[in-house]
Amino acid sequence: MNNEFIESHIHDIPDFPKEGIIFKDISPLLASAKARSITTELLVRDFRGQTIDVVVGIESRGFLFGMLLADALNAKFVMLRKPGKLPGAIISQEYELEYGTDTLELQENAISPGDCVLIHDDVLATGGTAIAAAQIIQKAGGKVEGFNFVIELDFINGREKIKDYKIASVLHY
Ligand code: IMP
Repeated sequence: MNNEFIESHIHDIPDFPKEGIIFKDISPLLASAKARSITTELLVRDFRGQTIDVVVGIESRGFLFGMLLADALNAKFVMLRKPGKLPGAIISQEYELEYGTDTLELQENAISPGDCVLIHDDVLATGGTAIAAAQIIQKAGGKVEGFNFVIELDFINGREKIKDYKIASVLHY
């Protein structure tokens, strides 16, 4: 029931950002206070009762529910950003894309050694971003307690890349 309600707030946009890709647009979900609150509750459910010191959100849509999750879990919120966006000393992690590579960055000292970290993003596709996020958190000395996503694209099987971790997704396609 809740999942159907959430699903009705995800729109399929054909041929975005490239021809042949059906982009899952969470904008209608963000626009609805009720849908946001149900989504946050569904995301929190699987990690409540577990020690989570830090919620890490992946740029940029991972910041949106990431912050709400951090509030709900009474945890710190930390941004993982694309290169050149964070000031001060940073730790970086390169990862593979379909064509070429990309990099994620984290501010040094944002994670304390031993921190229990929940990594959040809006969508799990190939899992390339997610595994890079886990690697950078570990470089910083954090302990990855798991991942959660609003949407998991099951047909791409990104969860294979992060199968050693707990994974919780609100919607599966
Ligand atoms: P991956 O590294 O292939 O798993 O891609 C995940 C990243 O791409 C996430 O940060 C998502 O925000 C973004 N992404 C991939 N597909 C979609 C989509 O259909 N809708 C929104 N974001 C997407």
